[in-house]
Amino acid sequence: MAFALKAPVSTSAATTTSLPDVQDKVAAIIADIRTRGDQAVREYSGKFDNWQPESFRLSAEQIEEIVSRVPQQVIGDIEFVQRQVRSFAERQLESMREFEVETLPGVHLGHKHIPVSAAGAYVPGGRYPLLASAHMTILTAKTAGVPRVVACTPPIRGEVPDATVAAMHLAGADEIYLLGGVQAVVSMALGTETIAPVDMLAGPGNAFVAEAKRQLFGEIGIDLFAGPTEVLIVADETADPFVVAVDLLSQAEHGPDSPAVLITTSEALGRSVIQHIDELLPEMPTRDNAEPAWRDHGEVHVVEDLDAAYQLADTYASEHVQILTAQPREALAKMRNYGALFLGEGTCVSYGDKVIGTNHVLPTRGAAHYTGGLWVGKYLKTVTYQEVTDPASSARLGEVCGRAARVELFEGHARSGDVRAAKYGGAELPW
Ligand code: NAD
Repeated sequence: MAFALKAPVSTSAATTTSLPDVQDKVAAIIADIRTRGDQAVREYSGKFDNWQPESFRLSAEQIEEIVSRVPQQVIGDIEFVQRQVRSFAERQLESMREFEVETLPGVHLGHKHIPVSAAGAYVPGGRYPLLASAHMTILTAKTAGVPRVVACTPPIRGEVPDATVAAMHLAGADEIYLLGGVQAVVSMALGTETIAPVDMLAGPGNAFVAEAKRQLFGEIGIDLFAGPTEVLIVADETADPFVVAVDLLSQAEHGPDSPAVLITTSEALGRSVIQHIDELLPEMPTRDNAEPAWRDHGEVHVVEDLDAAYQLADTYASEHVQILTAQPREALAKMRNYGALFLGEGTCVSYGDKVIGTNHVLPTRGAAHYTGGLWVGKYLKTVTYQEVTDPASSARLGEVCGRAARVELFEGHARSGDVRAAKYGGAELPW
């Protein structure tokens, strides 16, 4: 017994990793910036953001002036949230233990974490000044120990986003550029005459930004595919339908391509949520985004029991999964695919997005099947090293290496083993 009380009108954005027209458009912009560098960047910024200043990079004096315009309450709140994000990221870093082990006498194998030398942080700003993304990308990179963090955000409707710039500065960005979209991503990734390239890029963004990162992956590292936001709520009959409705709309307002899905064991709750949404939507100041998102990508499913709800939720692998049930912690053991899990009514996706301290850059479009979200570990290269200090062990490894490499027909490899078996173990060279 499972049925939909509300099905999505369109499944395009919800099911496609990357839409073909977006792919083509982004590929053309990348190719153009590759050939024409800063000149092309300037033209795209003019075309998409109506923004062509003398320099996209903000000077120290400009940053100081912008920060001084931001109200003290806003600065205080930014500092509060950045403390939350930093303390959680620091604990995550501590949990990443480096180690060295002796697997045979004198055979030392180790693994350690090295931060990338330079990271790019994309802080979205097309529709909303998403300053929280500055904490999530820049601060996390700095906590990981990245020496150079370059950060880009677009002007918002032709204006400098003061609070976003303040958040970028307070998070510790080494270079701040007022530049958005594909042109920002490509500039950081490949470098131009005025921006030195980075080793990896992180940050959320719209379909164009996410697609640009996807196409550049390989030439540089990326954090993950973090495109338009999604929310999925699992609720039983104990959930408050008004809270469920408000929380679904809180994510639908991100943009018209943001799916909002409810899976419930209670048909009555499902119907009540739909009714609340119908009442809330017309009054919503961000209705232009939330209404098409709910109309085209909103879903309500009724299932038999919570196990069926978790199973169905896992197939979506949604970016945010909120559990509003009598026993919310049960989902921790039962669910496998999500970017971040929000357990119980005391928290919500908005806390994760804005204030609580876990990272809000999270996998979308099913990427939670294979990855979690951004965290300090994404900025670190986990590398290995080895040393053999006991000649007898080196001789023993050399003998095995000689045989093993010859099975693979690698005579050169075999000889590196042979010489050690001979030098340290007295074996005859077989050649
Ligand atoms: P954005 O900064 O991502 O994109 C704005 C830029 O898009 C502009 O600067 C412009 O250059 C470019 N652009 C706009 N129209 C274009 C076109 N037709 N062709 C080429 N480029 C174009 O800001 P946004 O648009 O507000 O999107 C932010 C997105 O970030 C939302 O979709 C939101 O859901 C998502 N988000 C995702 C996560 C996550 O972790 N997955 C977290 C937060 C936000």
